[in-house]
Amino acid sequence: MAEYAYDFSEGNKDMKDLLGGKGANLAEMTNMGLPVPPGFTITTEACLEFLKRGGAPPEMLEEAGEHLERLEEAMGRQLGDPDDPLLVSVRSGAKFSMPGMMDTVLNLGLNDRSVEGLAKQSDGDVRFARDAYRRFIQMFGKIVMDVPGEAFEEALDRAKERKGPGTQDTDLDADDLTALIEKFRGIYRQHTGEEFPQDPKEQLRLAIAAVFESWNGKRARDYRRQNKISDDLGTAVNVQAMVFGNRGEDSGTGVAFTRDPSTGEKVPYGDYLPNAQGEDVVAGIRNTLRIVELETLDPDAYRELRQHMDTLERHYRDMCDIEFTIEKAKLWILQVRVGKRTAFAEWVMAYDMLAEDLIDADTGLLRVDANRLEELFKRRVTAEGATPIAKGLNASPGAAIGTVVFTADEAERLGKQGERVILVRRETTPDDYHGMIAAQGILTSAGGTNSHAAVVARGEGIPAVCGADAIKLSPADRTFTASGTTVKEGDVITIDGFTGNVYVGELPLEESVLEKARAGDAEAREQKVWHAFESLMAHADRVRRLRVRANADTPDQARNARERGAEGIGLCRTEHMFLGEERVEAVRTMIFAETEEEEAKAYDALAPLQRDDFVGIFGAMDGLPVTVRLLDPPLHEFLPNQVDLAVEVALGEERGDDVEEQKALLQKVNELHETNPMLGLRGVRLGIVKPGLYAMQVRAIFEAAAQVRRDGGDPKVEVMIPLVATAPELRQMREELEPVAEESLGDVELSHLEWGTMVELPRAAVTAAEIAETAEFFSFGTNDLTQTAFGFSRDDIGKFVGMYEERKLVPANPFVTIDVDGVGRLMRIASDEGRAANASLHLGICGEHGGDPASVAFCHEIGLDYVSCSPYRVETARLAAGQAVVGAAESASK
Ligand code: ADP
Ligand code: MG
Ligand code: MG
Repeated sequence: MAEYAYDFSEGNKDMKDLLGGKGANLAEMTNMGLPVPPGFTITTEACLEFLKRGGAPPEMLEEAGEHLERLEEAMGRQLGDPDDPLLVSVRSGAKFSMPGMMDTVLNLGLNDRSVEGLAKQSDGDVRFARDAYRRFIQMFGKIVMDVPGEAFEEALDRAKERKGPGTQDTDLDADDLTALIEKFRGIYRQHTGEEFPQDPKEQLRLAIAAVFESWNGKRARDYRRQNKISDDLGTAVNVQAMVFGNRGEDSGTGVAFTRDPSTGEKVPYGDYLPNAQGEDVVAGIRNTLRIVELETLDPDAYRELRQHMDTLERHYRDMCDIEFTIEKAKLWILQVRVGKRTAFAEWVMAYDMLAEDLIDADTGLLRVDANRLEELFKRRVTAEGATPIAKGLNASPGAAIGTVVFTADEAERLGKQGERVILVRRETTPDDYHGMIAAQGILTSAGGTNSHAAVVARGEGIPAVCGADAIKLSPADRTFTASGTTVKEGDVITIDGFTGNVYVGELPLEESVLEKARAGDAEAREQKVWHAFESLMAHADRVRRLRVRANADTPDQARNARERGAEGIGLCRTEHMFLGEERVEAVRTMIFAETEEEEAKAYDALAPLQRDDFVGIFGAMDGLPVTVRLLDPPLHEFLPNQVDLAVEVALGEERGDDVEEQKALLQKVNELHETNPMLGLRGVRLGIVKPGLYAMQVRAIFEAAAQVRRDGGDPKVEVMIPLVATAPELRQMREELEPVAEESLGDVELSHLEWGTMVELPRAAVTAAEIAETAEFFSFGTNDLTQTAFGFSRDDIGKFVGMYEERKLVPANPFVTIDVDGVGRLMRIASDEGRAANASLHLGICGEHGGDPASVAFCHEIGLDYVSCSPYRVETARLAAGQAVVGAAESASK
C-alpha cells in the first residue's frame, strides 16, 4: 500500500519527488535540529491519485488523520479546541519551486469559538487573535473557495479609511477587527452561498483538496509550460503548526538569502517586516526593512538567524533562500530552498564557492546556466546627463526600453505582435504572469526586492524596477505621473534594472562588463564576474570533447567568432557572394545564359570577386578549418520579386513606357518560378543542372586558398555540398569538382582538405552508409532536417507551434531544441552508420541547434566532433559542451 503522508522527521532533502521541494527541505531541517514548527507532508502521489479519482482516496484521509493526531500530541493542542486550539498552515509544495503559483492557507483551525481560545493562549491578546481570524477567512475564502480577493481587500481598505488617513492594517483595534470579521463572513456568504465552515476538520479537508486542485490551475500550468516542468509531477501538501510573526513589535517575519541573489556577493540579503504574518513580505503591503536592520531590532534573533544561514549554506553547499518568523523573540525557520539568482550572480557565486572550497570545479561548472549566459553580455543604460523621473529597487538587472502598458493582457497582446513593452503596475500577482513574460521590462510602484514582480523577473531574466513609490498610477486614464511628468500608455520609457532608475524616452545603452572585458578594457577585467567567467570557461574548455565552430560568412563575422573562442567555421554560406551591385549583372547573365560562352563570361566576372571574399575569410580563420557550403538557395532569390516585376511592367505599359527589358526579365522570372522552391531546384541540384556554377565557386575557393598559403598562411578547407539525397549525387559532384580544385591549387599543398556534405534530408540520413563512402565529413543541417522530417515549414509553423507546445504535441519547439526522438534518431542513424562505413568520417552540426545547450548535450551524447553556431552563441556552446561532459559523469555516478 502506498504511504500517503510523512512526518517532517521521517523525510529528507532527497525525497523531493514524493514530498515536494518544500516538504523535503522542511524534513531535512527538522533532522538537522533547526527550529522548525512540527508538521507532516501529504505526498505528490496522493495528489496524483486525488486528481485521477476526482477526490481524496479514503486511505489518504485516514493516514492524514493519524499524522494530525501525532501533531496534536506533539503540540499538546487539538485542532479546533475552543480553549487552546492548534492552528496549522496548509502549504503547497511541488518538486520544483513555483513561486506564488500555488497557494498557502494560514491560521487554519480558527472559528468563532477557537478565536477566543487563541486570544487566551496568547496572553489575552484579543486584537491579535481576531486579526488572525480575519486573515484566515480572507485566505480561505480566496484560495479555497475562489471568492474574489478584491472583495476582502476593499472591505479592509474601507475599515482603514474609516479610522482616518494613513491608517495601516496594524492600527485596526480588536473592535474594528470584530466588525471586519462580520463583514468578511458576509462576503464569504454572498459569494459561496454558504456559511464560513466552523468545523476545523472540514476546513482542513477543503484546504488540502484546494491545494491539490491548484496543480491544474491556469497559473500553475502556464508557469510549468514556460519553465518546461512536467504536468505529471503533482504537488505535495504540508500541514504545519502555526507560529506568529504578528504578535507585536518583538515579532515579525522575513526572507533571508545567504548571499545577494542579484550581485552574487557574499553578504546577507533579504527583507524583514516587524509585526507581520507570512505573505505580507511578498505582497508588498508595507515597506520592509533590510535584513541587516534586524541586528539592531533584535540582536539575539539576528545572531541565531545568521548561524542557521551559515549552517544551511554549508549543508546545501549553495546559496539558500530562507523564510523565517520571529514570534515573541523566538526564531522559527519555515522554509529553505536553494535560492534563485540572476545570471550575473550565479557566476560570481560559483566562483566564490569554488575559492571557498565549498564546491569542486565540476560542480562549479554545473552551477551556471548556459541558457542564460547571453544575459551577461546584455547592455546597460548610459545615464549620463539623463535625469530619472523615479528610482525604485534594482530588482532584476538589465536595461529595457519599451512602450508603457498597464495590464498583463495588453502586454501579452502587443508582445505577441513583436512590440517592446514595459509592464507598469502597482504590484504584480501570479495572474499577471502571462503579461510579465511578454514584456521587455517590469516596473512596479510598490513591493520589495522579494515581491512577486521581482522574483518572477529575476527567474525569467527580465529587467525590473520595483517599489518605485514616486510613481503614482491612475489606471483609469491609463497614465502615471512621477516628478511632475505624466506618462501615457504607449509612451516610451527606459528602465534600468541595475540601478532602479526610470527614465522617460529611449536612452542609449552601453556594453556589459563582460563585453568590455572581452574587448580588453582594463577596468572591466578587474571585476569578479570577469574572473568568474574566465575561470569557469577555462574549465569547460579543459573538459569538453566537442569542438565549437561558428557559422560565419564574412571576415568580420569570422574574427568576431574567433575572439569568442570559435575553433573554425562550421558553415560559411556563399549566397551573399552573389549579391551586391557589382555582381548583380553577372549573376543575371549566369542565370539566363543561353550559350555556354555567355555563361562562362559571367563566371569569369564572378570568380575573382569571390576569390577575394575567400581570401579574407581564410585569413581571419588562419590555421582553423573552414567549411564552405556551395550555393544552396533557389536561384529566384537572386532575381527581382515576381509580383513586383509584373506590377512594374503593367504600370509601365499603361504609361506607354518602353518596358521591353523588364518584360524579358519577367518572362525569365516566370520560367524559373517554382510552386515549392524550398523543395525545388536548389542545393546540389543546382550543381548538377549548372555544372559551371559549382566549378566557379570551387575555383574561387582554391585559388584563394593557394594565395593565402603562398603568403605563408595555413588555410584548412572543407567543401560542403548541400542538400544531397543520394550517394551518386555527391559522387558525381566530387568527380567534376576535384579536378577543378587540383588545377586551381597548382603546386600548392594544403594541410587540410576535405569534401563532404550536409545531411539535411531524411533520405540522406538513412542511406548515410552509402554516402559516407564518398564523404570525408557530414555536417547535420538540422534546420532543413527538422523541416523535412516533420514536414513543417519553418517560416509558416509560427501560426501553430504555440498550440503544439501547449498541447504537448511536440516536446519543445523542434526548431529551437533538437527533437531527440525523430530528428535526433535520424542523426544517430546517420552518425552510427556513416562511421561504420567510413571510420575516419568527421561529424558536425551547423543548424541553429548548434547553439542550444540541450541540443549541444545531445550532440555530445551521439559523439559528434563539433557543433557550429552563430558567433554570439559560441561561448554558450563551449560552456554547454563542458557541462555535457561533467553532467553526464555526474548522472552516471548517481
Ligand atoms: P510560498 O510557496 O508561496 O512561499 P509558503 O507555503 O511558504 O508559500 O507560505 C507563504 C507564507 O506563509 C510564507 O511567508 C511562510 O513563511 C508563511 N507560513 C507558512 N507556514 C507557516 C506557519 N506554519 N507558521 C507561520 N507562517 C507560515
Ligand atoms: Mg515560501
Ligand atoms: Mg539547408
